[in-house]
Amino acid sequence: MSSSETLLGRAGRLRLEWVASRYGRSRGAPAQGGPGETEGRPGGGRPMDVWWLALVLTTVTAPAVSLGADRDEPEELERFEFLETHMGSAFKLVVYCTGPAPASAAARSAFDRIAQLDATLSDYRVDSELSRLGDRAGGPPIPVSADLFEVLRRSRELSERSDGAFDATINPVVKLWRRARRNRELPSPEQLDQARSRVDWRRLELDPDARTARLASEGMRLDVGGIAKGYASDAALKVLREAGITRALVAGAGDIVVGDPPPGRSGWLVGIAPLDPSGPPERYVLLANQAVSTSGDAERFVEIDGVRYSHIVDPRTGLGLTSRSSVTVVAPDGTTSDSLATAASVLGPDRGLHLIEQIEGAEALFVSIPDGADAPEVASTPGFDALLAEPEGEPGPVPALGGPEA
Ligand code: AMP
Ligand code: MG
Repeated sequence: MSSSETLLGRAGRLRLEWVASRYGRSRGAPAQGGPGETEGRPGGGRPMDVWWLALVLTTVTAPAVSLGADRDEPEELERFEFLETHMGSAFKLVVYCTGPAPASAAARSAFDRIAQLDATLSDYRVDSELSRLGDRAGGPPIPVSADLFEVLRRSRELSERSDGAFDATINPVVKLWRRARRNRELPSPEQLDQARSRVDWRRLELDPDARTARLASEGMRLDVGGIAKGYASDAALKVLREAGITRALVAGAGDIVVGDPPPGRSGWLVGIAPLDPSGPPERYVLLANQAVSTSGDAERFVEIDGVRYSHIVDPRTGLGLTSRSSVTVVAPDGTTSDSLATAASVLGPDRGLHLIEQIEGAEALFVSIPDGADAPEVASTPGFDALLAEPEGEPGPVPALGGPEA
């Protein structure tokens, strides 16, 4: 069974869509949705929670993986998907719920939470709390919201651990590169020096007792683009859990956070796209109550004079990364996986994987083409292979991101 409808968001401009597929079984009723059973989907086959993680996220359908049925599902659960754009990215929710009304209400609350975080953390919006903090750079400490404080605290902690490879004060340099992407022209050395002099995570001062933040020098600005989508996905999953939905997935572009597995499964299967994201996934990981993020230059980069510069910047040089790489990090939460993936991209395979090995519950896969080489090199943390799983059979058609799955 499948159905869909469109609901209008509060402002009338947000579209919220759901697609439902029936799962589980009613009390006393015969089990439904066993492996191989069709679910009203074109081409047949049970809709699979196989996710393809890439810088552009797409979903694939495939025959069921035999992971053992969930015998104790108390109620019949249906599968719903919702899609909205926030933080400049498509956010997708997959929830298993007892019906459309509670699923839609929970999804609305989850998206509202993401929108609230966008309004707080965006460096594109001049009126965000983050931008207003930047306006006061060089001034006294400013009281900030719990969300902004937590994102800045986590960012600063990672700056320390990564020896400054991750730096939330990178905004002046990132802005130069955004302009370079638009104009296809490199920033001048003078512009880069000037911007770099305004970047320094040590001059982001945080006081946890007073919950204040301060950018110590005039001209400093913040950019939390390397951590915000993971944080927002964590927050959205929390909202879903508070609404009683534990079997859920939140995907914001290359950041995916999952709760309990779909009914009858032991995890959510997430495909990791290869360096060239137009190819099919080469590896899959099976996750429950975890997060996975991919960072790399596959989608956002600028090529000038034959050199490809990533949107991820090395704070030491001020230059967009030029070595091709795709880093996939699995961690207990999205804030951790998102920020670590960005940091590891800057550090490179050796130092990046070493950093991730120090973090409890984190594993990573690093695919890279070093400068001058043409074949990809693959390296991973010792525990990464244990997360790998295989989908049974061939993946089905791959719909474009945002296209309805059924
Ligand atoms: P992600 O896609 O999560 O790897 O994040 C990339 C984004 O993080 C960029 O678009 C910038 O907004 C920001 N960013 C770029 N370089 C850095 C860096 N070295 N440290 C922290 N954030 C960065
Ligand atoms: Mg990131």
